Amino acid sequence: MTGGHGHGHGHADMLSVEDAFERVMAYFHPLEAEEKPLLQALGQVLAEDVQSPIRIPPMDNSAMDGYAVRHEAIAGAGDGSPKRLRVTGQVAAGQAPQGRVSGDCAFRIMTGAPVPEGADTIVPFEDTDEVERVQRGLGLDEIQVMRELPPGAHVRPAGEDVAEGALVLKGGTVLRPAEIGVLGSLGRERVKVIRRPVVAILATGDELLEVGAPPEPAKIYDSNTYSMAASVLRCGGVPNVLGIARDNLEDMHRKLSDGTASDLLITSAGVSKGDYDIVKDVLMERGEINFWSIRMRPAKPLAFGVIRGPEGRHIPHLGLPGNPVSTMVAFEEFARPAILRMLGKTRLARPSLEAVLEGPVHNFDGRRVFARVEVTKRGDTYYANPTGPQGSNILTSMSRANGLAICPEDVSMVDSGERVRVHMLDWNEEVEI
Ligand code: AMP
Ligand code: MG
Repeated sequence: MTGGHGHGHGHADMLSVEDAFERVMAYFHPLEAEEKPLLQALGQVLAEDVQSPIRIPPMDNSAMDGYAVRHEAIAGAGDGSPKRLRVTGQVAAGQAPQGRVSGDCAFRIMTGAPVPEGADTIVPFEDTDEVERVQRGLGLDEIQVMRELPPGAHVRPAGEDVAEGALVLKGGTVLRPAEIGVLGSLGRERVKVIRRPVVAILATGDELLEVGAPPEPAKIYDSNTYSMAASVLRCGGVPNVLGIARDNLEDMHRKLSDGTASDLLITSAGVSKGDYDIVKDVLMERGEINFWSIRMRPAKPLAFGVIRGPEGRHIPHLGLPGNPVSTMVAFEEFARPAILRMLGKTRLARPSLEAVLEGPVHNFDGRRVFARVEVTKRGDTYYANPTGPQGSNILTSMSRANGLAICPEDVSMVDSGERVRVHMLDWNEEVEI
């Protein structure tokens, strides 16, 4: 990397990415719990310790289709010395065995069926002469065991998976399909989880057109609403799309009012110098707002504060910059961790890896650069290829990227062939590498 502190830029008025992150995160805590049907809780964080009211499996049962026998009765069985047993019962999965196994008796038994009393060992069909008997038209009222199995073979003991009263899942666990299944195995219909945050999304700007409208000169479609709402969904929040507020006080007030029941308000645009007056005025009237310059590129300007809602509520507000890539990068660095924390998650940082750059990343003015890159793996090495023009308006360059390569503040360029740290955008926080 090419070092160089001599950019000649004053950064005294700029917050470091870490400082801004800490100031934002101080406002966010896990939300309260809700109880909901099992399947709807997928991806949420468990808000209770779950103990098992039952044993799993509830009874000794067979791991194979075969014969339930007493080990004593098959001791010494082998090809030259088969053991002949009388078949005195039959038990399928879901049935209670009728009677018990004693002496030289056996029960025909299916996988998952309770092991009858008296039996301690399961002999699979393939270790008996069952197939041969059937082929020769002989009945199955007796059977020959061709092989001795150890005592307890193919018996799944009661409580093998879960003992009664055992702590099966701890509060704080993220519910994946496996945990949803485990809860189902306990017979749980509903579960307590930390609720999902509702995130109000508001685009601002006189130039914005709603998707679906015919193109108009000097207007652009509002893409930020979509990238932000999709990002909210992706990290587990519930978007509350407020639409587009025009750059006037009245419209801004009206649109904001629909967002005051939310857990977080995210706006886009109106925070860069020269064009933010309306947003600033409205937000100052309704709460406290700070306008920050963060030492990063893209997404230098960021507004953060709280707005007052009904009943003394205070809603944190993140005012993201308007350029579509800046919006997404600022969301990634600040909004996503905030939402994850509200969800009760503790791993807030995307997995990152070291990759070899395949094109230079320039740092013109001593900010931390988040460069859009496409990461590929060849052999054991990750490579990061910048996805073309890095202007913060070039949203398609974000679409081609699966990572953000970091060029540190005090490094003026990372060249091709050098190593960079890359935040992986498509990997969630649970991935460990
Ligand atoms: P501003 O911060 O209002 O000056 O906006 C910065 C840039 O982002 C301008 O080029 C805007 O046209 C653009 N922009 C603002 N809002 C959106 C949006 N919702 N979708 C796409 N581009 C936007
Ligand atoms: Mg604007």
